[in-house]
Amino acid sequence: MEKPIIITAAVTGSSPTKEMNPALPYTPEEIADAAIDCHKAGAAIAHIHVRDPETGEPAFETDLFRRVTERIREYCDMLVNLTTSGLRITGPNVTEKRLEPVYLKPDMCSLDLGSVNFRDRVFYNPPQWAEQAARTMQQEGVKPEIEAFEPGHIEQARDLIERGLIDPPACFQLCMGVRWGIDASPESLMFMKSRLPQGVKWSVLGIGAAQLPMITMGILLGGNIRVGFEDNIYLKKGVLAKDNAQMVEVAADLAERLGRRVATPAEARQMLF
Ligand code: ZN
Repeated sequence: MEKPIIITAAVTGSSPTKEMNPALPYTPEEIADAAIDCHKAGAAIAHIHVRDPETGEPAFETDLFRRVTERIREYCDMLVNLTTSGLRITGPNVTEKRLEPVYLKPDMCSLDLGSVNFRDRVFYNPPQWAEQAARTMQQEGVKPEIEAFEPGHIEQARDLIERGLIDPPACFQLCMGVRWGIDASPESLMFMKSRLPQGVKWSVLGIGAAQLPMITMGILLGGNIRVGFEDNIYLKKGVLAKDNAQMVEVAADLAERLGRRVATPAEARQMLF
């Protein structure tokens, strides 16, 4: 297979803590440096959440996103993908607040289309949010990465694509094994892939122990892949990963062994834009 594979590194997310893995980055500098190390290991894209630098609690301050983005761009050309999940934001202007990272002009932003029950809360993404988020990203020239936690989210994306609210090629992240979205079985990934509209780009992630099986399938099926502490903090059962870059090294090595060359950031840009 000739097609290069794009590796995304999701270095923090909002759930893991330093207590779970001491290498988890909290401050903007730690988060950016983790992403830069992942770039050196083969990642072309950094998917970024931010934390309160003191407490490590999930944060959503524009200034934190800005500091991470600027530091990554100072050191390397990897694509920056900022989250708009805004999981813990409350109050009257949730949509506006969630869309603040878009105005920092990253290369990409995550776009969560549909609602889904997570283990302890509703991940609330009403249709009005999805439409406004897609429009804003389109206006600002920021590529949305559509996160699909179950097949219905793909159908909702299809509607936005058909209405011209997402520019081609649309990019999907198939999020497998997030409880209580779709499970991370091979059959479920094959089904999700079969539901994708023609001509789109797709990547896959697997949560926890499903990370390695799901990225292996992603490599074999010609997709792109995501690894990092947002999805999994273990190298293997009972052994913590030393850092995010180690997980990228494993993914890059696996891809190369299976005949997929790892894409540079410049190649990723060409493929996704
Ligand atoms: Zn995320």
